[in-house]
Amino acid sequence: MTQHTVVLIAGDGIGPEVTQAVQRILEAAKAPVVWEEHPAGLAALERDLDVLPESTIEAIRHYGIALKGPCTTPVGKGFSSVNVQLRKQLDLYAAVRPVRTLPGVETRFEDVDLVIIRENTEGLYSGVENEVTPGVVMSMKVASDRGCRRIAHWAFRYATQRRREKITVFHKANIMKLTDGLFIRMAAEEHQREYPNIGYQEAIIDAGCMRLVQDPSQFDVLLLENLYGDVVSDLCAGLVGGLGVVPGANIGETQAVFEAVHGSAPDIAGKGVANPLALLMSAVMMLNYLADNRNDDACRSCAVKIRDAYDQALTDGCKTGDLRGELGTNEFADAVIERLS
Ligand code: ATP
Repeated sequence: MTQHTVVLIAGDGIGPEVTQAVQRILEAAKAPVVWEEHPAGLAALERDLDVLPESTIEAIRHYGIALKGPCTTPVGKGFSSVNVQLRKQLDLYAAVRPVRTLPGVETRFEDVDLVIIRENTEGLYSGVENEVTPGVVMSMKVASDRGCRRIAHWAFRYATQRRREKITVFHKANIMKLTDGLFIRMAAEEHQREYPNIGYQEAIIDAGCMRLVQDPSQFDVLLLENLYGDVVSDLCAGLVGGLGVVPGANIGETQAVFEAVHGSAPDIAGKGVANPLALLMSAVMMLNYLADNRNDDACRSCAVKIRDAYDQALTDGCKTGDLRGELGTNEFADAVIERLS
């Protein structure tokens, strides 16, 4: 059986707890992966390394795949976000975040099944900020033909491959006529040029958010620029049980980094109560990616086995505190392992 080397970044805060739990589950499921651990974030700074060491980037370039715990991003000062740097340096331009209702997790809606596709490299995350004059600061929102077109193309191809029916672009082109205007123009062009069979809609983001919380079943795949994608991901997490249950993938042409939508949650770090499910679901996405891109059926069957096991654990009422359950991180991992068939 082929063994895939995966770069593992444990991350900060709850990162090490949830990555260890996920590693344990993948090992029990006999996933055909071997881990090569590399530092990033506070863990790297503590070892007198750069916050995102070149050796970590090089390892991901070399192996093409990583599973990453959350890295702390300080607000207002200090180093720039590891997550943003990683996505930019590796040009991981497509963030994919499936949001679905889970068995045994009661929420306001019963059948949420959305996929968020977020442009990961442009928008207000360009990091270009300056002081125009004392008391006036500015942040630059960047959109390029190439960046907008490639994410639109990626989204339509994804929707086609996954038999999704409709893409809705959230935007604010009524105000940001050039940047968001370009984003929707490229999406509409890609739709007409190559994917007329997929439904296509545009929604102004404020009204779109209201419609999302009223009735998420109106939507299928959401396509958003960087900042809107960040915000709407957390909103959608709230529709299905919170940040502990939404996985993510950051995908480029030749590399992919899988990580949960949540951050390092310092308020609960070290207490053994964090939900490892979002990272576990990200690991399942990683196995499916390996199956698709390296033609490896063993990865696909392992992904199915793990998904069935955590669905069963949830159905049986095994839940962490964020889902109003009583299990800790490791107990939940044990419950999943017990259900691996
Ligand atoms: P970032 O700025 O890095 O995106 P954030 O501000 O979105 O981070 P998070 O760290 O993602 O904040 O988490 C917000 C809150 O949600 C945490 O304080 C924590 O209480 C809860 N939370 C997040 N992830 C989990 C998890 N895996 N299990 C349980 N609770 C979580």
